[in-house]
Amino acid sequence: MEMPAPDPTVLARKDALIARFKEVLPKDAVISDPVETRAYECDALTAYKCPPLAVVLPSSTQEVAAALRICHEMQVPVVPRGAGTSLAGGALPSGDSVILGVARLTEVLETDFDNRFVRVQAGRTNLSVTQAVEEEGFFYAPDPSSQLACAIAGNIAMNSGGAHCLKYGVTTNNLLGVTMVLMDGTVIELGGPHLDAEGLDLLGLVCGSEGQLGVVTEATLRILHKPEGARPVLIGFDSNEVAGQCVSDIIKAGILPVAIEFMDRPCIRATEAFAGAGYPDCEALLIVEVEGSDAEIDAQLETISRIAQQHDPVELRQSASEEESARIWLGRKSAFGAMGQINDYMCLDGTIPVSQLPFVLRRIGEMSADYGLEVANVFHAGDGNMHPLILFNANTPGELERCEALGADILKLCVEAGGCLTGEHGVGVEKRDLMSDQYAPADLEIQMAVKDVFDPAWLLNPAKVFPLDISRAHRDRAA
Ligand SMILES: Cc1cc2nc3c(=O)[nH]c(=O)nc-3n(C[C@H](O)[C@H](O)[C@H](O)COP(=O)(O)OP(=O)(O)OC[C@H]3O[C@@H](n4cnc5c(N)ncnc54)[C@H](O)[C@@H]3O)c2cc1C
Repeated sequence: MEMPAPDPTVLARKDALIARFKEVLPKDAVISDPVETRAYECDALTAYKCPPLAVVLPSSTQEVAAALRICHEMQVPVVPRGAGTSLAGGALPSGDSVILGVARLTEVLETDFDNRFVRVQAGRTNLSVTQAVEEEGFFYAPDPSSQLACAIAGNIAMNSGGAHCLKYGVTTNNLLGVTMVLMDGTVIELGGPHLDAEGLDLLGLVCGSEGQLGVVTEATLRILHKPEGARPVLIGFDSNEVAGQCVSDIIKAGILPVAIEFMDRPCIRATEAFAGAGYPDCEALLIVEVEGSDAEIDAQLETISRIAQQHDPVELRQSASEEESARIWLGRKSAFGAMGQINDYMCLDGTIPVSQLPFVLRRIGEMSADYGLEVANVFHAGDGNMHPLILFNANTPGELERCEALGADILKLCVEAGGCLTGEHGVGVEKRDLMSDQYAPADLEIQMAVKDVFDPAWLLNPAKVFPLDISRAHRDRAA
């Protein structure tokens, strides 16, 4: 993975830049000691690291605007950062960039239960948004597995999803408005507490824009009434393909479970050893959860069980209590931690049409054998959002490169199967060089033209999303 060399003229301005920051920000909000900036050298894609020039941690929209104005005047690149849990290297700094972290922007600014929205500062963690409204019986639906740590800012930038997004949609379907600061310090408002905004859907443009267009500082989020109840069923199969076919049949039957999660044997075994959730030792398992009143849950689970029976499951276990539901979810929620205990891994994030699951799972198995690298699958099967985890040893020379090559081939397979490179983790640096496999040159041109408008100097989140050779003309013009 290539990153441009740091600009020596920017590096030479470091002391002057820090002095300017200290004029507008509290002293403890400016970090320039190379020992301390190391904490920001990567995100959750730890294969790639680079210490930034400096880090600033503003506490308000005004402080964000002041910091950006300085960087704009001094032509210093800026990498916006939430909690740094990106799996795509979205928050990876370059050596000549300033990390602008929003982790101190954590306030709840307004709650309105009558109109079902909450307005928060964008550094607030995903889970704590629900915690702020749950006493009144509400919740914020998008639930990335990283929700304890990740920030709403990062969720908006990556258009994050989660296990329960099959029914409720991803971030873009639950985002009503943002306050965003442009690179030159201008503060803009997009959307608001109302359902739809007039004019161009700029909010839709910003959601998923990966820190390329501006720095989000506040967000208005839709909150929903908690359902009466929810219950999962665990279904084990002796083949990945049959499990994939069962998912396809459940969706085809017109039922909308709140979640359909998939785990294959390597993942089941690892999570059993780690969490002891009582999963059967089978090739593949599904966790299907439905919501509603007891009667609605019973009716939906009956249909799902009938469909599953047609695929000869080796296990079919409906939860009968809250404890049992928690146990069924325990293994799935521990999956990433469990895999991390075995080896280094790279977590991919391709999306495919649900009907292609059996074919794509079989091809991933064949590719894994060809490359000699184990692949474990755990993913949101209901919306076709796959997360193949490629296991490798970072200390074995050449293994990271082999892992990258296998990852690229798997993501290209997702595109060939009618899907796309990313379901919820974003492009970042991880999939940047594959964008031309997904988009025609004219499609990429129009996306870069949007960046030209919001960030004419191309200073925000450098070297992400757009392949370096393809974006060169835009970057040269900006410089
Ligand atoms: C164990 C684990 C499980 C995960 N599970 C899921 C999952 O189920 N679903 C899912 O979607 N993701 C998942 N992720 C990925 C990650 O948590 C999400 O992408 C998350 O939204 C990133 O949020 P963050 O605050 O950590 O953002 P960061 O990692 O800090 O940044 C992510 C991107 O957002 C940009 N950004 C950050 N702040 C701002 C801002 N204020 N304005 C503009 N741009 C900004 C950054 O520049 C970067 O491009 C998982 C990650 C881990 C480690």
